[in-house]
Amino acid sequence: METRSTTLLVIGGGPGGYVAAIRAGQLGIATTLVEGDRLGGTCLNVGCIPSKALIHAAGEFEQARAYAQESPLGIHVASPRIELAQTVRWKDGIVARLAGGVAGLLKKSGVQVVGGWARIIDGKTVEVTTGAGQDALRIVCEHMLLAPGSQVVALPAMPFGGKVISSTEALAPKALPKRLVVVGAGYIGLELGTAYRKLGAEVTVVEALDRVLPAYDDELTAPVAASLRRLGVRLHLGCTVQGLNASGDAVRIRDAQGEESALPADQVLVAVGRWPRTAGWGMEGLMLNMNDRAVRIDDQCRTSMRNVWAVGDLTGEPMLAHRAMAQGEMVAEIIAGRRRHFMPSAIPAVCFTDPELVVVGRTPPEAKQAGLDCISAMFPFAANGRAMTLESGDGFVRVVARRDNHAIVGWQAVGQSVSELSAAFSHSIEMGERLEDAAGAIHAHPTLGEAMQEAALRALGRPLHVARA
Ligand code: FAD
Ligand code: NAD
Repeated sequence: METRSTTLLVIGGGPGGYVAAIRAGQLGIATTLVEGDRLGGTCLNVGCIPSKALIHAAGEFEQARAYAQESPLGIHVASPRIELAQTVRWKDGIVARLAGGVAGLLKKSGVQVVGGWARIIDGKTVEVTTGAGQDALRIVCEHMLLAPGSQVVALPAMPFGGKVISSTEALAPKALPKRLVVVGAGYIGLELGTAYRKLGAEVTVVEALDRVLPAYDDELTAPVAASLRRLGVRLHLGCTVQGLNASGDAVRIRDAQGEESALPADQVLVAVGRWPRTAGWGMEGLMLNMNDRAVRIDDQCRTSMRNVWAVGDLTGEPMLAHRAMAQGEMVAEIIAGRRRHFMPSAIPAVCFTDPELVVVGRTPPEAKQAGLDCISAMFPFAANGRAMTLESGDGFVRVVARRDNHAIVGWQAVGQSVSELSAAFSHSIEMGERLEDAAGAIHAHPTLGEAMQEAALRALGRPLHVARA
């Protein structure tokens, strides 16, 4: 068996692993990255990027269909149609371009990329199976970075297969199901459920808890719930899934009162969460300290074993690509001798529903729970000129700040295109902004961002574009 040695061995070429490898290569560290599937990982191939492409295409199609009815803008189009195979090809083209970009960047940084599945032998050695009929390769390293990501959670009562699909299959539809039942009203269920509805499927969402996007507060999710109803998405909240019926054409559910019913389904998308990928590749043998299902790390992404590091979904919530990338970049710098700690003031979370939802820092209930005495204020997009010109008066920007010194601890927004406000929200909190700073900075007019300034003004008791309470 061929044996190679390297300073840093990265297992997994998703956003956590490939960013670590690029930075390490830039810093002159001999780096090898092993990827069993496709460079870019879940995010690029079957996650963030393809889902946002499909969501965009579905939104455009829905807009065209709306113009075919009646448009206040005076736009008229003949009855539009969508050729799904072409939509999927377009989405695949974006993924391929980005994946090619990642491969190019790794090469330019001098990273050795090995295609194959890594199996851990010990904290310094892996064996890689590179393909049928090919010899295994042994790689010995000084530092090992674990970045294998996460895997989808299956429902025991309704395992994947046949008409029961995960987000991966939902992102590459061969045809549109007439009736789609979505299990789970979290990120994936609502992002993809909404997209399928806009593409023309009848969509029914089943959620175990009593609200959609239960991780967020009522005020924030109310516009999303209202929009789902407007779009004609049926919601069954507080319901548990019992499995498919005997003929396999309906999902049996039970509500909080114990009443059972059946939801006809041509396809079922199960989106009830993801778990860190901890088993099946020898990681168990390292006997690392765990945090429930995730690998426990410190604020430098060190595991309990010397020179074994872990980043991304393997390390648990929040399972977001930008967190994985930030961790990966930091680990490379620490290995290169720099002093770094992972202590972000806030990690933004964006849900690409319609309307979009952004949460950065603490929400009012979270601030209260943390024992902080806070004030909060929101500015509605109904009073924002730019939102009106975009036909999107739904939603608001909300700010949360400490009552004593006005330090901003949270920004949230729900509304069209608010994902793009997440950068300003993150900067604000990371830079320790106070309400007076946000209120005093000149915001370009007319933009959605003006709602940030107005929310801060309102929190200070001196709003300009809504009446004082
Ligand atoms: P991954 O991206 O999962 O990469 C891990 C890689 O390791 C994979 O390529 C895998 O093949 C490889 N691997 C695993 N084991 C081995 C082994 N033994 N040997 C070799 N290779 C191995 N996050 C966001 O921030 N924004 C979004 O909009 C967003 N949308 C999403 C939409 C969907 C449908 C899904 C499923 C996820 C989405 N996410 C989103 C989450 C995001 O994709 C993950 O948080 C992110 O990909 C985690 O990065 P990672 O590097 O930890 O792991
Ligand atoms: P999620 O945790 O966001 O949502 C799962 C939902 O399923 C929850 O509301 C939960 O209450 C519900 N649920 C759990 N078991 C159930 C059951 N038996 N019956 C009915 N409902 C049930 O998980 P997800 O949507 O699968 O997404 C997985 C991860 O991927 C997320 O945690 C997130 O980190 C990541 N992701 C992020 C984005 C984004 O950033 N825009 C988009 C998609 C996915």
